[in-house]
Amino acid sequence: MTTPQISFEFFPPQSLEASFRLWDTVHTLSPLGPRFVSVTYGAGGTTRELTRDAVATLHKTSGLNVAAHLTCVNATREETLAIADTFAEAGVTDIVALRGDPPKGQGAFRPHPGGFGNSVELIEALADTGRFTIRVGAYPDIHPDAAHDTADVDWLKRKLDAGADEALTQFFFEAETFFRFRDACEKAGIDKPITPGILPIENWKGARRFAKMCGTKIPAWVENAFDKAERDGREDLLATAICTELCSDLIEGGVDKLHFYTLNRPELTRDVCHALGIVPKVTLQNVA
Ligand code: FAD
Repeated sequence: MTTPQISFEFFPPQSLEASFRLWDTVHTLSPLGPRFVSVTYGAGGTTRELTRDAVATLHKTSGLNVAAHLTCVNATREETLAIADTFAEAGVTDIVALRGDPPKGQGAFRPHPGGFGNSVELIEALADTGRFTIRVGAYPDIHPDAAHDTADVDWLKRKLDAGADEALTQFFFEAETFFRFRDACEKAGIDKPITPGILPIENWKGARRFAKMCGTKIPAWVENAFDKAERDGREDLLATAICTELCSDLIEGGVDKLHFYTLNRPELTRDVCHALGIVPKVTLQNVA
């Protein structure tokens, strides 16, 4: 089995305790040599300043390639591009460009007056600057806003044609779901990389809630396995086994890059990476 390249998603800390947790996560995972780490942008455009500060600090102190998430929500075009400028000025030129989810209670996404109307418009504007490597979201299970079964593939093609370089998928539970999506993308003429997003399940109830919210289908065998593991107090073992098997199946099916949603909890992601043969890179500095 070949060893895949990996990347990690973090979220910006909102308290001193959360800052220490992020720091610990970065320290635990960075020796695994990620090709980049990304920092989310709070739903509804919240955490704008926190994302900016976390991105700049990580870039300055970690030596890692950092990507900043950016959404169209709750800001004019000028404000959104000004945030992208602050990332670039801090030396961060990788952006995960998203439409974003509407603020709580708003229902469907409605563009901000004067804001980008959708993700394609944001990608075009970022690509026009010529300053950024642009990654975008993709949805192997159908996104709740998709007009029909293949709408996500058509829209992803629009986003990549607008200037994005790579797609990172929403999490899913079975490798087959990703392979079906990859095949449909290939058939639609998409030739840019599509990297599967992997959620190591630290907390089944939270993951279940999140899956329902974003349209990720939960197979019955996963529900049953977690119910049983919960009764036996062995959720951690099951989570490691399920996640490692999913990654192995993906690698066997030709996947060479994995993107982990760490939720700033490094242990499970680290254990899965170790099981896949991704081990800390030994440098002269860290053996001295
Ligand atoms: P899009 O791909 O633009 O839209 C999602 C789907 O809706 C499309 O596939 C298409 O079927 C349909 N659609 C939308 N607009 C149109 C249109 N104009 N015409 C036709 N079809 C349309 N959210 C955050 O708030 N902050 C984050 O940091 C964040 N990070 C994420 C990272 C990744 C890798 C992923 C996969 C998601 C992330 N999200 C984040 C969640 C994301 O904001 C939501 O899934 C949101 O609902 C869609 O954003 P998008 O840019 O992927 O949408």
